[in-house]
Amino acid sequence: MAKHPAPKKCANAPCDCIPADGSKYCSAHCEGAGNQTELVCRCGHPGCSGDLSNAR
Ligand SMILES: [Zn+2]
Ligand SMILES: [Zn+2]
Repeated sequence: MAKHPAPKKCANAPCDCIPADGSKYCSAHCEGAGNQTELVCRCGHPGCSGDLSNAR
């Protein structure tokens, strides 16, 4: 049972969304962005901490 203790979170660095079970990314956007370093996330999920449009 060598499961990673890391919190379940989208593998796209700026994104904090929770991916679906068995998926590393919360969305196709993040999957496409996964191989490059983005400073913002545009997955479009409400509450995503990487989405600047959600910032106050
Ligand atoms: Zn996101
Ligand atoms: Zn994501």
